[in-house]
Amino acid sequence: MEKEILTQAEVLEVLDLLEKTYPDASCELVHRTPFQLLAAVMLSAQTTDKRVNQVAEPLFARYPDAAAMSEADPEELRTILRPIGMYKTKTENLLKLSRMLMEEYDGVVPEDQKLLEKLPGIGRKSANVVMADAFGHQRIAVDTHVFRLANRIGLVSEKDVLRTEKALMKVLPEDRWTASHHMLIWHGRRLCMARSPECGQCPLTEICLKKGLKTKGEEKSS
Ligand code: SF4
Repeated sequence: MEKEILTQAEVLEVLDLLEKTYPDASCELVHRTPFQLLAAVMLSAQTTDKRVNQVAEPLFARYPDAAAMSEADPEELRTILRPIGMYKTKTENLLKLSRMLMEEYDGVVPEDQKLLEKLPGIGRKSANVVMADAFGHQRIAVDTHVFRLANRIGLVSEKDVLRTEKALMKVLPEDRWTASHHMLIWHGRRLCMARSPECGQCPLTEICLKKGLKTKGEEKSS
């Protein structure tokens, strides 16, 4: 029977290998403040960090904080956000989010997971990113890369994002949650892509279960 999940020792070995491969893994969204990270994370839904970074410079130069953003001209905002897709909804959410921050939190991003999740356009994953990268809490934000890799490598064996996050919290040492999240994203962008993972060049190839990539005992892509 095919092995479902790695042992605890193997999980730690995966983390060590990823750490050696990506010693600088960190959040790739350009930001200078918690507000800018919150806005960038919200804008990154259904698009790439690269695209968000392209609009981040003009956006934050013009509207650097919640006070400025809450009074932004919607038409001008739409023009800046147009390249990232879903720009009409994102313009509305950004305005609503900034106004809510001004009305309820004096323009300061709350350092609180539940309060963050109540902001327009912010779900559990985005709140996790802000708690981790703006405030330094240990979090595992499960995006498409983390979900795919965690289950493909065999760190966990779960069918949905929430279960994957909870299972990762059990199996990964808490002081490595945020770093693991970044390393898995970097690995998913650089080597373990969704359709064509580069197993032949991957430092994890001996240990990874490559779940979903094998047919009749053979790897499809290594
Ligand atoms: S061995 Fe292949 S499937 Fe496993 S992590 Fe590396 S690239 Fe991904």
